[in-house]
This record gives sequence, C-alpha cells and structure tokens, in this order.
Amino acid sequence: MWKKIRVSILLVILLIVAVNAWRDMNQDWTKPVIVLLHPVNADGSEVTQAYIQQLSAVDMIEAQDYILSQSQQLRGNPVQIYFQLGRQINQLAPKVPETGSMADTIIWSLKFRYYAWRQQESADGRPGVTLYLNYYDPKQTKLLKHSVALQRGKIGSVNLFASGRHSGSNKVVMLHELMHTFGATDKYSMQTGQPVFPEGYAAPDQQPLFPQKRAELMGGYIPLSNQKSITPSKLEDTMISTLTAQEMGWLK
Ligand SMILES: [Zn+2]
Repeated sequence: MWKKIRVSILLVILLIVAVNAWRDMNQDWTKPVIVLLHPVNADGSEVTQAYIQQLSAVDMIEAQDYILSQSQQLRGNPVQIYFQLGRQINQLAPKVPETGSMADTIIWSLKFRYYAWRQQESADGRPGVTLYLNYYDPKQTKLLKHSVALQRGKIGSVNLFASGRHSGSNKVVMLHELMHTFGATDKYSMQTGQPVFPEGYAAPDQQPLFPQKRAELMGGYIPLSNQKSITPSKLEDTMISTLTAQEMGWLK
C-alpha cells in the first residue's frame, strides 16, 4: 500500500518535471511572454546604484518594439514580449565556471536555477523568462564577463554597463541572452570570437561581403573583415536571421 503511494508520488513529480521541461523547450508564441528583469548592483558602487534607481519600464519599449518588428517581418504576425522591471536584487548569480568542464557546467546550472528559485516572489507572478541584469560602473570595469542564459529554467544572468552611453549595446546583449532562453544558439566562433559565415552574418549574400552594416543578433558582432568585427552599439545595427527564428520556434 505505502509502496504504491510512494511510487505514485514519484511518478507525479517526474511527470511535472517532464511537462515543465517540454514547456521550456517549446515556447507557445500565440500568447504574450512576460520577461521579468531584476537589476543587480554588481560592483556595489554608488554610480551603479544611481543608475539602477533611474531605470524605468519606458527604457524597455525600444526592445519590445524591436522584437515586434523583427518577428512581424519574419513570420507575418508579431510575437509579443513584454518586459517588466522587477525589484533590485542584492545577491549576484553564481559565477560561471572558467574551466567549462561538463560536470562544473551541470553543477553551475543547478546552482543558478536554485538561485532563481530562491529570488522568486509570489508577488512577481509567474514570468515566462527571468533575467538578472548585473550592472557595473564602466569606470571601474572596462571589460564585462560573458553573460549566460539557460533555456531549461528560462533564466539568464546578463552583465551590463551602468551608463546611459551604453544603453544601446546593453539592449543588444540583453536580447541576445533572451533569445538563448528561447533556444537560439550562438553563431560566433568560441575560438576567435568572430561571427561564423554564413549563419552569423546579417547579409551573407552582400557583394562585396565586407564591411557588413549590421550584426545577426546571435552572431553578436558586425564583421568588418575576415578577422575584425565590432560590437553593435544599438539594436538598429542588428537583425534576427531566419535560422535563429527557426531555432526559437518562430517559424514552422
Ligand atoms: Zn550567446
């Protein structure tokens, strides 16, 4: 009797896990998606705190409109993604392992999901995606570490500059990570950091090929030559390719 009950409970838990995983891997684009943004004062500085304090939902309209227009072009009807500014969080997400070994990565992803679960508040409702925006004062931090996002769990830890001058490139980084949570893959080389041809290029058929004018969002950079590329400074300098749209399930 008790054994049967135990087995049934276990089966129900497994079923819930499986359903959640399936849902994370198959976004329903007929419904609006809420993306909750939690700012984090990553360097603990006053400059960063002042920047976080003046953030508002209005800043996110540009990113919302970008997704509307890109998805409209790609699939004929737009997908609706709404950004919500959540409360500030004081604790940084667990550090990404430097080594990149399989075991370290698995342990890190579990830690990150535990972190997200602990930060969750019932008042926040149930967002489709949660991004932790770690802000750094550009005077103290010249180079940001890589941002990361998980499709399973729909969470991302995004490193950004606490400065209005960087608000354009911040949005590019944020949307790149957001697309990861929907299943889009990187289209730049991990070795060289250069966009991969042709899938990482906004206009792979352009003649002459260089310089490219825009970046493919998952390619990450605007290629100026075979070896050189630059970071897009605003969303208008990027686009979403058909391949990236397919990976996210925007196209059938
Ligand atoms: Zn990426």
